Amino acid sequence: MPEIDPTDHEIADLGPKIKDIDDEQELEEMLAMEKGGEGRAPVVTLIEDRLEKVAGDDEDEQDPSEVDLTELTIADIANMVRDVEEVDVLEGLLEREKEGKDRKGAKEQIESRIQSIEGSDEEEETEVEYVPPEEKHPDLDHPTADKQYVEGTVGGEYRDMWVYCETQRGELIDVSREMLGKARELMDLYNADPSEATEDEPSGRYGGDENGEPEEVVAVIIGDEVEGLTEEAVAYGADRVVYHEDERLERFRHKPYTEIFVNMCRDWEADWRDYHEPRYTVFPATNNGRDLSALVQGELDSGLASDCSGLYIEEAMISNPAKTGTPGDSKEFERILHMKRPDFSGFEYSTILCIDKPHRDFHPQGASVIPGAFEVPEPDHEREGEVTEHDLELPDDWFQVEVTDYDRLDEGVDLTGNDVVVAMGRGIGENPTEGIELGLELTDQFEEADMGLSRGVITASYQFDGHVEQYITEERQIGESGQVVEPDLYIAAGISGAVQHKVGMDESDTIVAINEDPDADIRDFSDYYIQGDLFEVIPRLVEAIEAGEFAEAIAEVSND
Ligand code: FAD
Repeated sequence: MPEIDPTDHEIADLGPKIKDIDDEQELEEMLAMEKGGEGRAPVVTLIEDRLEKVAGDDEDEQDPSEVDLTELTIADIANMVRDVEEVDVLEGLLEREKEGKDRKGAKEQIESRIQSIEGSDEEEETEVEYVPPEEKHPDLDHPTADKQYVEGTVGGEYRDMWVYCETQRGELIDVSREMLGKARELMDLYNADPSEATEDEPSGRYGGDENGEPEEVVAVIIGDEVEGLTEEAVAYGADRVVYHEDERLERFRHKPYTEIFVNMCRDWEADWRDYHEPRYTVFPATNNGRDLSALVQGELDSGLASDCSGLYIEEAMISNPAKTGTPGDSKEFERILHMKRPDFSGFEYSTILCIDKPHRDFHPQGASVIPGAFEVPEPDHEREGEVTEHDLELPDDWFQVEVTDYDRLDEGVDLTGNDVVVAMGRGIGENPTEGIELGLELTDQFEEADMGLSRGVITASYQFDGHVEQYITEERQIGESGQVVEPDLYIAAGISGAVQHKVGMDESDTIVAINEDPDADIRDFSDYYIQGDLFEVIPRLVEAIEAGEFAEAIAEVSND
């Protein structure tokens, strides 16, 4: 009998739990239970994927010099030989295949691996011949055909990490400081002496560029009267600040902002640099930053990993022939920005790599970064950096869209200044309207308090009665893509504690979590953990507060 009966759990709870199960037998039993119950397709897929992974891990442990090839499919053999570097082991495999099933496909896989290690005479012939798309499809109105710089992005020279520093009302916003701090950390490691690399800390450490010269963090600031912000950008980690100011740039406008940024990137005759384009670009994943990052990276004929929450620079071993140029070969690419981003509502992380092709560069390697993903560093006002004003005439037709009037939106809900925040999560699912009513009732017990929500509630398709519906808005969301709060008391009811939620509240002084699950992730960072049904626990807490016995009630019911 497996420890977890999937039929007792919501789909959302199962993702993180299944990830930790390594026993094939247990997973098989869980799969049978789910199929015998509701047979929910996402749950079946989750368990099957895990099974495949666990089974795959077992296969990975096989020793190619001893493995019984008759047990393996051709695809298994192809996967196995990809990691074998010794020609004699491969020749042994080939002999054993000939003596065993003697499958043509299997022999081809092994032979092609031997060839790719030895460097075959035919290599020249197998190399993919490059024909520009415009030549290959002369009738097509190819979108890259009229881009004058496409040619310049083959075999270019790239350096430095550029950080687009967004401003609001004349100030750098926090995510700009966070990105500068992260860029500083990454480039310090990148420029560090490679002899100091350790197994635990191998990333980067290239000792600077290909000639041993350190690469820089370049802050880019665009706006009206932004020169005054350049010192601050240096204090937060920039080696150089390139700024462009013009009164017409007071507010973000996508045409001129994109044109200016792209022009800065391509201005390789500027006297402060002698490279074609930045090696890396980093933008904030704010509304304006998302807009700008997509356009800039598109204009520069490169790619973009959006909404990242983790960045590091490391080598990448790639076998995709579109990238290596030779089928069956693996190639190590250096100095690759690994861009981690959450997928599937945060259950999985993908790492996106932006890698050149043999006949086309994909630089800058670009990412947008979720606000709050990195720490705001301590500013160092003693740091010194270079400041460069970008010189470019801005034609009037970049400002064809005229802003005739604007209004500042209502400030919305600001949860940050409260002593107490009561946050409600998907645990309200059984009766969403009553759940929110209970949240509001608990909030009302405190003076400086307001109610927040997990993203789970906002994205769920719950039906709420009119009197509580007004509270279900993104502006109450707490977490990575919502508000970051640090109240004296944070009460999280029916919230599992996904990392994207955690980053918005784990600096609170005291965290009380109410959750039915004895092992929800939020337990790890709660001061008090009340295991129970929020529909029963909250009314008891309200009663206790009314009777002036809140602290005693928490201590009494908490399991921690
Ligand atoms: P669930 O994970 O479904 O958890 C519900 C919990 O309630 C469970 O632990 C369950 O045991 C418990 N429960 C069920 N019934 C009861 C009951 N009756 N009484 C008590 N407990 C009960 N999420 C955010 O919150 N903020 C963000 O800013 C955010 N940004 C994101 C950004 C990206 C790019 C991505 C991909 C995801 C983001 N998420 C964010 C989503 C996040 O990954 C989680 O999916 C989300 O936080 C889950 O919300 P939840 O905890 O309410 O729901």
